[in-house]
Amino acid sequence: MEGLLTLPATDLRDRSSTARSPKRNRNIHLQIEVRNGWTMIRVNEHFFKLQSSYLFSEIAKRVAAYRAIHPGKDIIKLGIGDITHPLPAACIKAFESAVKEMAEKATGYGPEQGYPFLRDKIAEHDFQARGADIAADEIFISDGSKSDAGNIQELFADNIKVALQDPGYPVYLDTNVMAGRTGTFTDGRYSGIVYLESTAANQFMPELPSEPVDLIYLCFPNNPTGATIDAGTLKQWVQFACDHKALILFDAAYEAFIRDENLPRSIYEIPGAREVAVELRSFSKSAGFTGTRCAYAVIPKSCRVYDAEGGRHNLHALWKRRQTTKFNGVFYAVQRAAEAAYSPEGRQQIRHMRDYYMANADLIRQEMTALGLALSGGENAPYIWIHTGQDAWEFFDTLLHKAGVVCTPGNGFGRCGQGYVRISAFNHFENVQIAMERIRAALATTSRRGAAVPIDAQIA
Ligand code: PLP
Repeated sequence: MEGLLTLPATDLRDRSSTARSPKRNRNIHLQIEVRNGWTMIRVNEHFFKLQSSYLFSEIAKRVAAYRAIHPGKDIIKLGIGDITHPLPAACIKAFESAVKEMAEKATGYGPEQGYPFLRDKIAEHDFQARGADIAADEIFISDGSKSDAGNIQELFADNIKVALQDPGYPVYLDTNVMAGRTGTFTDGRYSGIVYLESTAANQFMPELPSEPVDLIYLCFPNNPTGATIDAGTLKQWVQFACDHKALILFDAAYEAFIRDENLPRSIYEIPGAREVAVELRSFSKSAGFTGTRCAYAVIPKSCRVYDAEGGRHNLHALWKRRQTTKFNGVFYAVQRAAEAAYSPEGRQQIRHMRDYYMANADLIRQEMTALGLALSGGENAPYIWIHTGQDAWEFFDTLLHKAGVVCTPGNGFGRCGQGYVRISAFNHFENVQIAMERIRAALATTSRRGAAVPIDAQIA
C-alpha cells in the first residue's frame, strides 16, 4: 500500500515494536506516509521537552546589545567557568615529548580504560594517599566529566527516580530528560524529578530526600553555589544510599579547589561508599585542561546496581562494557600531560595556579561582603554565589550597564537560583581588581539590595 494514511498513535506503536511514543501522544492521530510497508525515521521526542539553552545565549545577546551602544567600552567577563591560564609547564613538556615519541613509533589505539601509567598515579595520589581504598583498575580515563556525567545514566533503567540539586550543573538534568525520565516542564520544573533544593535556608546543603529516589547527583564543591560538604554530612548521604539501595553520582570536578584540610576530597573517604557511589574528577579546572580534555570516572568493583527482581549486578563491569563499545580512549599525549600533573613540578605548578584563582575568589568575597551582599562559596570553590536581593537578570543588567562586568544569572542553574548571580574566580587578578572597583562604584549609585537605578537612566 502506498500514500498517506491517518492512524491513531497507539496503532502506530503496534505496527513497530521499536517505536516508542511518549504518553502525551496517546489518542493523537498521526498522518504517516506509507510506502510498501516502510514507515519513516522518527525522532526521540523527549528532546522536545528540553528547554532551550537560554542562559548563555541570553547573556551573549545582552552583551552584544550593550557593545552596540558602547562600542570600544572594555567589558570584563566574570561569568564563565573556563580557565584563563595555560597548561602548567610540566604538562606542556610531557605533551611535547609524547608527540615526539609518536613521531618515532606508532602508538595506535590505546586501552579504552586509559593507560596504566596515568591510572596508577591517580590511584596513588588522589585516593590511596588520603586513605581512600581505590585501585588503578577501578579508574576509567575519559575525555571529560561532562561526557561521564551525561553518559552514566545509560546504565540505569528508564523508570528510575532521579534526584538532583537545584541549582545545579545542567548536564545531569538534561541527559535524563533526553533519556525520557521526566514528564513535561512547568513552572521551572520537570515532573518526575526530585529536586534537592539548595538555598540560603539550608546553607546550600540539601536535605536527604523524603521520597523514594534511585540515582542521586551530588556535586561538591558545588557549581554554582560554591558550597562544600563535610565528612559527617557526606556520611549521611552514603548511609541513605546504602539503606535505600540507591546510587550516588558524586561530581568532584572542583576537588582541587578545596583548601580546608578537614573537608573530604573524595566520597571514598567515607566507609561504605565503594558499594554505593561513582565519583567523577576532571583535569579541566585543576590543571587547565578545559580544551585539552582529560578526566576520569571511578567505579569501584564492589559498586552494585539491581535488576527488576532485586538481583545484584556489578556496575564496574557494565561501565567497562559500555566504554569498550562506545569509546576508544583519550589521546596518548594528553594522558602523558595529565600524568605530568602528578610529578613534583606539576603538583607545585598546579597548586600555584589554584592559589592564583583562589586569591581572586578571596578578593571577590571581600569586596562583595563589603558592599553588604550576602554570599556563599569562594572559600573552597572557584565560584561565588551572590544573593542580589532582586531579580537575577536585573542585577546582571546593572553590573553590565553600570560597571561593564558580566556575571551569570543564577536562575540559569535552576529555579532556586532566582535572585542570585554566580561570579567566577577564573580570571587574571588585575581584571578582577578592576571589575571590583567598577562594581563598587556602580553599586554606590544604586540603592543596595534591590531597586536598582532603571537601566535606561544608567545608559544615559
Ligand atoms: N562537572 C561540573 C560540576 C562542571 O561545572 C563541569 C564544567 O564546567 C564539568 C563537570 C565538566 O568538566 P569537563 O571539562 O571535564 O567536561
